[in-house]
Amino acid sequence: MHETLPHLQPSDFPAIERRELETLQINIGLRCNLSCLHCHTNSNPHRKEKMGESTLNSVVDFLRWKKIRTLDITGGAPEMHPGFRGLVVRARDLGVHVIDRCNLTILEEPGFEDLAEFLAGQGVEIIASLPCYTQENVDQQRGQGVFTQSIAALRRLNALGYGRPGSGLALNLVYNPLGPFLPPGQEELEQEYKTHLYDDYGITFDHLYTLCNMPIKRFGSTLISRGLFDDYLHTLKQAHNAANLDQVMCRSLISVDWRGYVYDCDFNQMLGLNITDGGDNPLHLDDLLHGDINGRPITVCNHCYGCTAGQGSSCGGALT
Ligand code: SF4
Ligand code: SF4
Repeated sequence: MHETLPHLQPSDFPAIERRELETLQINIGLRCNLSCLHCHTNSNPHRKEKMGESTLNSVVDFLRWKKIRTLDITGGAPEMHPGFRGLVVRARDLGVHVIDRCNLTILEEPGFEDLAEFLAGQGVEIIASLPCYTQENVDQQRGQGVFTQSIAALRRLNALGYGRPGSGLALNLVYNPLGPFLPPGQEELEQEYKTHLYDDYGITFDHLYTLCNMPIKRFGSTLISRGLFDDYLHTLKQAHNAANLDQVMCRSLISVDWRGYVYDCDFNQMLGLNITDGGDNPLHLDDLLHGDINGRPITVCNHCYGCTAGQGSSCGGALT
């Protein structure tokens, strides 16, 4: 696989700084039941890296002492981590809002039959990737049979109240383009998804988040192989909207890797761009327990144009 970082530097992306920390996003492990082409974590069923017990304890300590409002759990398929459920329960006991970044198909895997009930019982918000509402496009991007499994999982979640008005169980879907182009308008696409999924399968959900594909890891490497990397970067830069700079997710979030090291966001994590002590030493979550990173400069690079292009893109969808 091609290294993408050398293709992203030097960068003319504007300087930005952190604000008050609201969200702790943790990558609990890299194992996943799928291996999607666009995956920026290179997750697959054979990955073994996962957060250890002491780092899970550090996460809970950090939530408690820093009064963090939201714990956003990513992977891989985070639910495959043996400590996932215990962590969710501890965070919820602290009154923290928990988000599970779910690929849906995991809910249909053998051994995970009771997962949806667990998530509903804990009031966990589900943000689930569904790159299209057609079988052909989803199976092309994520693998044969993924669409059928995803529809079955969405029906299961709806039956538990997820995505139903008044249930308090939020079910949000994520769209990302199939290739090196910007996503369409979020509101219009959400309406299209809602119409198709309801008319064809009786499925309801709350919101659709449209995300840009980041030119890093597996997707970036594929672009390099096909000679499309520079064109895609040019597309992102041309569409840069300075109004999005105020809202990019790194302003109020830190990302933690499976070993406990911290980054300005998930993408910086994948590129190995650590938050450091100001020198060469990467900071661990434990180092931040008694420190404060508000106001610190954020490490930016050319991939950041993926967050500010067009309507903008963040873990909560479009920005403007
Ligand atoms: S489901 Fe998500 S984490 Fe798993 S391989 Fe696909 S993109 Fe990566
Ligand atoms: S890629 Fe990360 S650091 Fe760059 S703007 Fe987006 S969230 Fe911020």
